[in-house]
Amino acid sequence: MKAAVMHQNLDGHVDIKDVKLRPIHHGEALVKVEYCGLCHTDLHLMSGDFGTSPAGRIFGHEGVGRVIKVADDVKNLKIGDRVAIPWFFKGCGHCEYCVTGHETLCRNALNPGLNVNGAMAQECIVPADYSVKVPEGLDPVEATSLTCAGVTTYKALKVGNTKPGDWVEIVGAGGLGNLAVQYAHNVFNAHVIIVDGNPDKIKAAKDAGAEIAINYHDNHHIGKTIQDKVGGVNVSVVTAVAKEPFTEAVNALRPLGTLVAVALPKGNMELNIDRTVLDGIKVAGSLVGTRHDLAKTLQFGAEGEVKPIVHTCRLSDLNNVIDDMKASKITGRMVVDFTKEK
Ligand SMILES: [Zn+2]
Ligand SMILES: [Zn+2]
Repeated sequence: MKAAVMHQNLDGHVDIKDVKLRPIHHGEALVKVEYCGLCHTDLHLMSGDFGTSPAGRIFGHEGVGRVIKVADDVKNLKIGDRVAIPWFFKGCGHCEYCVTGHETLCRNALNPGLNVNGAMAQECIVPADYSVKVPEGLDPVEATSLTCAGVTTYKALKVGNTKPGDWVEIVGAGGLGNLAVQYAHNVFNAHVIIVDGNPDKIKAAKDAGAEIAINYHDNHHIGKTIQDKVGGVNVSVVTAVAKEPFTEAVNALRPLGTLVAVALPKGNMELNIDRTVLDGIKVAGSLVGTRHDLAKTLQFGAEGEVKPIVHTCRLSDLNNVIDDMKASKITGRMVVDFTKEK
């Protein structure tokens, strides 16, 4: 079968190769991949930002496909089921985090491209217990994006304890931010403020339900503006890959507000101690979502509450797509269409 594997010297590009997968073991299923999105996390992996990776590792954690084989002991999947293949691929199942509903923090978790083969291939072996089914009503191309950006933003709003009628600030209106606006507005019934510097992305966020838009090129006191307009936000979800917006987002919070950090810029954020203590402010990190979060995320997609921006490409285009992504030339997500591969 054809697969995209990272170069051994981790120079940021991939080879399209013929790869033979091992046979499935107990508890596993074999999935024929239909679609797999290319994520910025993949670019980090193939550039060695997360450390070394064995030669020939297949990446891909925005995969969707159908089960074509199951091990004898598998009860929860059958041939023909459509499943998602996410970043949280498998946990140990028995540590403190796995048994308390925080399985994405498992110290022995498997993540595609990092320590297990992923979905940027015609076939992928998955652990059946960790497989989340994709509802039949959901477009499988859109499902790839919800499998990563969707569950990440849905979970971030949950971590922020977002309630109906709350004011939510979404910082960054890219792929993550746009979906965050949709989940905040359509699923959590919150009022949304979008902050970005790109007029096209701001417009897309307003179309998705943001009531107030702030362009940071025109406004250097975003926190104060938000305090003046709505009395501060209950939740701020930061998806911008720069550290300054994190500090500014603290200024936008109302008392008891929560900043939820999602993006991963290098460096530290400033946190005013007075404000933190006197206003009871909370800062929380949020990393993708559990199997249950993913199932809910996909269900909201199937119900039409959220719609990611996706485009398909061929597996042979992948290195060009990687270059375009690095150059920020792509709006929405590029998804490799494996249904066109022989
Ligand atoms: Zn991703
Ligand atoms: Zn664990």
